[in-house]
Amino acid sequence: MNSGKFVTNGLVLRQTATKESDYILTVLTAEGIMSVIAKGARSRRSRYSAACQFLAYSEMTVTGKGDWYYLNEAATRELFDGVRCDFEKLALASYFAELTEVVCREQWEASEMLSLLLNALFALGSLQKPQRLIKAAFTWRLLANAGFAPLVEGCALCGCQQPESPLLDVQEGIIRCSTCPPTSGLNLPLSESGFAALRHILLCPPKRLYSFTIPVPALRLLDNAAEVFCAAQLERTFRTLDYYKGILPPEEIIS
Ligand SMILES: [Zn+2]
Repeated sequence: MNSGKFVTNGLVLRQTATKESDYILTVLTAEGIMSVIAKGARSRRSRYSAACQFLAYSEMTVTGKGDWYYLNEAATRELFDGVRCDFEKLALASYFAELTEVVCREQWEASEMLSLLLNALFALGSLQKPQRLIKAAFTWRLLANAGFAPLVEGCALCGCQQPESPLLDVQEGIIRCSTCPPTSGLNLPLSESGFAALRHILLCPPKRLYSFTIPVPALRLLDNAAEVFCAAQLERTFRTLDYYKGILPPEEIIS
């Protein structure tokens, strides 16, 4: 860990209230995840309480000491009010934050993850895109950045680049035609346009991540495949995802 005083840009993924009036912040920076103690941040007189909120992105001056970082100063750069003031978007952003924390926990370089999450929050708050499209694209790209990308060159069995009724093998992380011999494990339908969208998501420049359109039924398949693939590869579920799906209107959660 860095020791001494330094300046970094960080996004608050989680805040934990401690005794007295402090917070322990879980902060995502380009260098990885840091646990930062914000002394007195819960006090009304605190000069950096805005920067200690969930999803606040700030320039932070911190001091590394022993096993901890201490917050000295913070200048808020973005609060993502478009996400914060919408119940559903905030719930989805909480899932994005939990997922990011899980995959970044062991990493020491997280600049791609930080910009991926910042762009997702911007897209959620400011772009007129369906939440499901942002969720699917973010999840697939994050998994790919973390080393869990499926092979999307074409059917992994016959080599066909435009597989007919393509299926995703969740355990193997490969695509195959529905007409090729079955592989072991769980195979999920993607549809042709879902497969094209998945290729776009995994291969496009970061700025183009949400620049695609896809019919709703194919988007449902792609999003469902992202959830199942994520659970299988990371071997866990996410309470923030369960919560998000629990507050959606019934017609939105059909997969
Ligand atoms: Zn095939």
